[in-house]
Amino acid sequence: MVTAFIALGANLGDAVAALRQAVVSINALPLCAVKKTSSFYKTAPLQMLPGHAPGGDYINAVLGIETRLPAPILLQHLQQIEQAAGRERPYVNAPRTLDLDLLLYGDGRIDSPQLTVPHPRMWQRAFVLLPLAEIAPALVSQDALTAVQGQTVSIL
Ligand code: AMP
Repeated sequence: MVTAFIALGANLGDAVAALRQAVVSINALPLCAVKKTSSFYKTAPLQMLPGHAPGGDYINAVLGIETRLPAPILLQHLQQIEQAAGRERPYVNAPRTLDLDLLLYGDGRIDSPQLTVPHPRMWQRAFVLLPLAEIAPALVSQDALTAVQGQTVSIL
């Protein structure tokens, strides 16, 4: 059994509903159980952060799961959930209905063309680190939080 962390984000349509549905869908995956769900966080569009697409308010959350799926299979399932949420990719960083990123997979390090874990940009993003620190404080140092403290992200 591996503890993994998944970042959820949405900024099109009913983003809160999209995230709620994603939690249900991830919990329903084979060999996966959601153990922790962070609060939902909101980023105003005027304060776009690295990795955030233009569009409406961005809603973000982080999940802690326990899984027996290998990381590449877990990623495939997450991509299917994104597709089911109607995600289209007309251009890089286009606004998206649902974006799911595998942040951490136990203490695994993966560097394949399809999958990089830990997620390479997670340490630059307050909208990832704040919800992750909420559910797994031991994983996010004070220095890491200080590095993103200029980014305004609020609990919904
Ligand atoms: P994005 O547009 O941010 O959802 O990026 C999706 C692409 O990133 C897909 O082609 C994935 O194979 C790749 N990718 C690499 N590492 C990860 C990761 N840790 N989590 C999610 N997608 C990843």
